[in-house]
Amino acid sequence: MELKIFGHKSPDTDSICSSIALTYLKNQLGESATAYRLGEVRKEAKYVLNYFKVDAPVLLEKVCSEDNCFLVDHNEYAQSVDGLQEANLIGIVDHHKLGGISTTLPLSVRIAPVGCTCTIIYNLFKENNVEITYEIAGLLLSAILSDTLLYKSPTTTQADIDACKALAEITKVDVETYAMDMFKYGTSLDGMSIPEIVHMDFKEFTIAGNKVGIGQVFTMDLDSIMAKKQEYIDYLESSEYFAVVLAITDIIKEGSYLLYKADNNVISDAFELEAAQGVFAPGVVSRKKQLVPNLTSALEK
Ligand code: MG
Ligand code: MG
Ligand code: MG
Repeated sequence: MELKIFGHKSPDTDSICSSIALTYLKNQLGESATAYRLGEVRKEAKYVLNYFKVDAPVLLEKVCSEDNCFLVDHNEYAQSVDGLQEANLIGIVDHHKLGGISTTLPLSVRIAPVGCTCTIIYNLFKENNVEITYEIAGLLLSAILSDTLLYKSPTTTQADIDACKALAEITKVDVETYAMDMFKYGTSLDGMSIPEIVHMDFKEFTIAGNKVGIGQVFTMDLDSIMAKKQEYIDYLESSEYFAVVLAITDIIKEGSYLLYKADNNVISDAFELEAAQGVFAPGVVSRKKQLVPNLTSALEK
């Protein structure tokens, strides 16, 4: 009976790409399988599917006792499809810790501590001597670049890098450029207003008796913010807060660009730099560990 292959709920690029790639591999090996997804395709995965001209997996709402299920990029009931506990679990390919699944029958499991499920799937293609097509190579490459944040993530292993090198040769894409384009599209703030972006992840604090607001947005779409820099500053200036900082965090560059309503001395002091609107604060990526304590000590002076 047909195998249903799917990644976790709220699917990321790895969950989408690994379900498609493993389904293709199973089909090539003569097994009947279909790729599914457990939620909306996010922007980043949309970029990938569109770039390599591959259809998104079919949406799967729930499974029943007759269904044969194969999990990729997850192994916990809480993250999986509704009804999985009643269905037949045939196998798992994943790179996460084991999370408490139990079965009545033996199953095929391939779990490895690598940066991405697609790295394991790449190796399964090799082991089974199945040729990796342009499209499949593109999906595998994209997922590995996504999960490893272009090798910046501490979860990255040599196996991930080796797989990417081989896959880049098949797809002929420039890895750096492609990854940045994919990240940019994936974190694009298109269609959002300035107040929406400022308040996307905004927290209020009382520091030295004053109300201070700190917003943080993770994006690689800096240009679209900086094109409206003055409008952002005007918006922050018009706020009721004694001080407001909007940190535009770039996880690849590992730092944040700062827009603010505050005394320049406070910003200079807090982040040990020469304050200016839009200044880059290297290494500042955490509100909890950096933005709040740094601003607190500067404001309390
Ligand atoms: Mg994932
Ligand atoms: Mg993953
Ligand atoms: Mg991920």
